[in-house]
Amino acid sequence: MRNASSWQSPVNLRAPIVVPGASGSLDLRWERGSQRFDVVAEPHGQRFRPVVAQEAALGDEVFRLANVHFHRPGEHWVDGEPQQAELHAVHVRAERALHVLIVSVLLRYEADGEGGAPTSFDLGALLPGRRAFYRYEGSLSTPDHSENVSHVVFAEPVQVADQHLARFIAGRADRARSPQDLGRRFLLLCE
Ligand SMILES: [Zn+2]
Repeated sequence: MRNASSWQSPVNLRAPIVVPGASGSLDLRWERGSQRFDVVAEPHGQRFRPVVAQEAALGDEVFRLANVHFHRPGEHWVDGEPQQAELHAVHVRAERALHVLIVSVLLRYEADGEGGAPTSFDLGALLPGRRAFYRYEGSLSTPDHSENVSHVVFAEPVQVADQHLARFIAGRADRARSPQDLGRRFLLLCE
Protein backbone atom coordinates (compact mmCIF):
# COMPACT_ATOMS: atom_id res chain seq x y z
CA MET A 1 0.00 0.00 0.00
CA ARG A 2 1.40 3.37 -0.89
CA ASN A 3 1.77 6.15 1.64
CA ALA A 4 -1.14 8.57 1.31
CA SER A 5 1.21 11.54 1.49
CA SER A 6 3.64 10.35 -1.16
CA TRP A 7 1.84 11.59 -4.31
CA GLN A 8 0.89 15.04 -3.10
CA SER A 9 1.40 18.50 -4.65
CA PRO A 10 2.98 20.97 -4.85
CA VAL A 11 6.64 19.91 -4.65
CA ASN A 12 10.05 21.54 -4.63
CA LEU A 13 11.34 21.29 -8.22
CA ARG A 14 14.95 20.17 -8.01
CA ALA A 15 17.34 17.68 -9.61
CA PRO A 16 15.02 16.60 -12.44
CA ILE A 17 15.77 13.91 -14.99
CA VAL A 18 16.32 15.84 -18.25
CA VAL A 19 14.47 14.43 -21.26
CA PRO A 20 15.63 16.13 -24.49
CA GLY A 21 13.00 16.53 -27.20
CA ALA A 22 10.06 15.80 -24.88
CA SER A 23 8.51 19.28 -24.68
CA GLY A 24 6.64 18.54 -27.93
CA SER A 25 4.37 16.17 -25.97
CA LEU A 26 2.40 19.20 -24.69
CA ASP A 27 0.05 20.94 -27.13
CA LEU A 28 -1.86 23.92 -25.70
CA ARG A 29 -4.79 24.62 -28.00
CA TRP A 30 -5.91 27.75 -26.20
CA GLU A 31 -7.81 30.56 -27.87
CA ARG A 32 -5.42 33.22 -29.15
CA GLY A 33 -5.49 36.81 -27.96
CA SER A 34 -7.63 38.23 -25.18
CA GLN A 35 -10.10 35.71 -23.75
CA ARG A 36 -13.29 36.17 -21.76
CA PHE A 37 -13.84 34.39 -18.44
CA ASP A 38 -16.72 33.84 -16.04
CA VAL A 39 -15.28 34.69 -12.64
CA VAL A 40 -16.65 32.35 -9.96
CA ALA A 41 -15.89 32.59 -6.22
CA GLU A 42 -15.22 29.06 -4.93
CA PRO A 43 -14.22 28.03 -1.38
CA HIS A 44 -10.50 28.14 -2.25
CA GLY A 45 -10.60 31.34 -4.26
CA GLN A 46 -11.60 32.92 -7.53
CA ARG A 47 -11.83 30.66 -10.56
CA PHE A 48 -11.72 32.01 -14.13
CA ARG A 49 -13.83 29.72 -16.29
CA PRO A 50 -13.30 30.17 -20.03
CA VAL A 51 -16.38 31.29 -21.95
CA VAL A 52 -15.14 29.52 -25.10
CA ALA A 53 -14.31 25.80 -24.84
CA GLN A 54 -10.59 25.11 -25.09
CA GLU A 55 -8.32 22.09 -25.01
CA ALA A 56 -4.80 20.93 -24.29
CA ALA A 57 -3.15 17.64 -25.23
CA LEU A 58 -0.46 15.80 -23.29
CA GLY A 59 0.82 12.91 -25.36
CA ASP A 60 -2.26 11.38 -26.94
CA GLU A 61 -4.64 12.48 -24.17
CA VAL A 62 -6.87 15.50 -24.79
CA PHE A 63 -8.14 17.56 -21.85
CA ARG A 64 -10.73 20.37 -21.58
CA LEU A 65 -9.77 23.64 -19.88
CA ALA A 66 -11.98 23.87 -16.77
CA ASN A 67 -10.57 26.94 -15.00
CA VAL A 68 -7.60 29.22 -14.55
CA HIS A 69 -6.60 30.54 -11.11
CA PHE A 70 -3.65 32.17 -9.39
CA HIS A 71 -1.63 31.56 -6.22
CA ARG A 72 0.42 34.09 -4.25
CA PRO A 73 3.02 33.04 -3.33
CA GLY A 74 3.50 30.34 -5.94
CA GLU A 75 2.94 26.73 -4.90
CA HIS A 76 5.91 25.03 -6.58
CA TRP A 77 9.35 25.90 -5.27
CA VAL A 78 12.46 25.82 -7.48
CA ASP A 79 15.72 24.54 -5.99
CA GLY A 80 14.43 25.30 -2.51
CA GLU A 81 13.25 28.82 -3.37
CA PRO A 82 9.62 29.95 -3.05
CA GLN A 83 8.23 31.79 -6.09
CA GLN A 84 6.34 35.09 -6.16
CA ALA A 85 3.14 33.84 -7.81
CA GLU A 86 1.84 31.02 -9.99
CA LEU A 87 -0.83 30.46 -12.62
CA HIS A 88 -2.73 27.17 -12.68
CA ALA A 89 -4.64 26.21 -15.81
CA VAL A 90 -6.75 23.23 -14.73
CA HIS A 91 -7.76 20.81 -17.49
CA VAL A 92 -9.93 17.74 -17.06
CA ARG A 93 -10.53 14.54 -18.95
CA ALA A 94 -13.31 12.18 -18.00
CA GLU A 95 -12.72 8.69 -19.31
CA ARG A 96 -13.16 5.70 -16.99
CA ALA A 97 -11.94 7.93 -14.13
CA LEU A 98 -11.34 11.66 -13.86
CA HIS A 99 -7.83 12.65 -14.94
CA VAL A 100 -6.62 16.22 -14.38
CA LEU A 101 -3.84 18.12 -16.16
CA ILE A 102 -2.63 21.28 -14.42
CA VAL A 103 -0.42 23.54 -16.51
CA SER A 104 1.47 25.95 -14.25
CA VAL A 105 3.45 29.09 -14.96
CA LEU A 106 5.69 30.70 -12.34
CA LEU A 107 4.89 34.41 -12.35
CA ARG A 108 6.67 37.61 -11.42
CA TYR A 109 4.67 40.78 -11.04
CA GLU A 110 4.83 44.39 -9.91
CA ALA A 111 1.46 45.86 -9.01
CA ASP A 112 0.70 49.54 -8.44
CA GLY A 113 -2.16 48.61 -6.09
CA GLU A 114 -4.69 45.87 -5.48
CA GLY A 115 -7.78 45.18 -7.56
CA GLY A 116 -10.64 42.86 -8.39
CA ALA A 117 -10.81 40.08 -10.92
CA PRO A 118 -10.53 40.95 -14.62
CA THR A 119 -13.13 39.28 -16.84
CA SER A 120 -10.73 39.03 -19.76
CA PHE A 121 -7.00 38.58 -20.25
CA ASP A 122 -4.61 36.98 -22.70
CA LEU A 123 -3.71 33.54 -21.38
CA GLY A 124 -1.14 33.03 -24.15
CA ALA A 125 0.72 36.16 -23.00
CA LEU A 126 1.37 34.37 -19.70
CA LEU A 127 3.36 31.59 -21.40
CA PRO A 128 7.17 31.72 -21.49
CA GLY A 129 9.10 31.89 -24.75
CA ARG A 130 11.07 28.81 -23.79
CA ARG A 131 8.78 25.79 -23.66
CA ALA A 132 10.82 23.46 -21.42
CA PHE A 133 8.70 22.17 -18.54
CA TYR A 134 8.87 20.06 -15.40
CA ARG A 135 6.53 17.12 -15.29
CA TYR A 136 5.45 14.83 -12.47
CA GLU A 137 2.39 12.98 -11.17
CA GLY A 138 0.70 14.44 -8.10
CA SER A 139 -2.48 15.77 -6.60
CA LEU A 140 -4.79 18.71 -6.28
CA SER A 141 -3.34 21.20 -3.78
CA THR A 142 -6.75 21.82 -2.20
CA PRO A 143 -9.01 19.31 -0.41
CA ASP A 144 -9.73 16.52 -1.25
CA HIS A 145 -6.10 16.44 -2.51
CA SER A 146 -7.02 13.64 -4.91
CA GLU A 147 -4.02 12.05 -6.59
CA ASN A 148 -5.15 12.07 -10.19
CA VAL A 149 -3.22 15.06 -11.50
CA SER A 150 -0.50 15.25 -14.15
CA HIS A 151 1.51 18.39 -13.39
CA VAL A 152 3.28 20.46 -16.03
CA VAL A 153 5.26 23.47 -14.70
CA PHE A 154 7.07 25.68 -17.20
CA ALA A 155 10.70 26.14 -16.18
CA GLU A 156 11.00 29.77 -17.29
CA PRO A 157 9.14 32.35 -15.16
CA VAL A 158 6.99 35.01 -16.84
CA GLN A 159 6.62 38.68 -15.91
CA VAL A 160 2.93 39.71 -15.82
CA ALA A 161 2.56 42.69 -18.15
CA ASP A 162 -1.23 43.10 -17.72
CA GLN A 163 -1.53 45.58 -14.82
CA HIS A 164 -5.20 44.72 -14.14
CA LEU A 165 -4.18 41.08 -13.66
CA ALA A 166 -1.12 42.05 -11.58
CA ARG A 167 -3.34 44.07 -9.23
CA PHE A 168 -5.71 41.10 -8.88
CA ILE A 169 -2.81 38.74 -8.06
CA ALA A 170 -1.44 41.24 -5.51
CA GLY A 171 -4.75 41.52 -3.70
CA ARG A 172 -6.89 38.45 -4.35
CA ALA A 173 -4.87 35.43 -5.47
CA ASP A 174 -5.24 32.14 -3.60
CA ARG A 175 -2.86 31.14 -0.85
CA ALA A 176 -0.34 28.36 -1.43
CA ARG A 177 -0.03 24.91 0.06
CA SER A 178 3.50 24.15 1.30
CA PRO A 179 5.73 21.79 -0.73
CA GLN A 180 5.14 18.08 -0.20
CA ASP A 181 7.68 15.26 -0.25
CA LEU A 182 8.41 14.01 -3.78
CA GLY A 183 9.06 10.56 -2.31
CA ARG A 184 9.81 7.95 -4.95
CA ARG A 185 8.22 9.84 -7.82
CA PHE A 186 10.09 10.84 -10.96
CA LEU A 187 10.54 14.53 -11.70
CA LEU A 188 11.23 15.12 -15.40
CA LEU A 189 12.47 18.24 -17.17
CA CYS A 190 11.08 17.96 -20.70
CA GLU A 191 13.18 20.03 -23.10
ZN1 LIG B 1 -4.04 25.91 -7.88
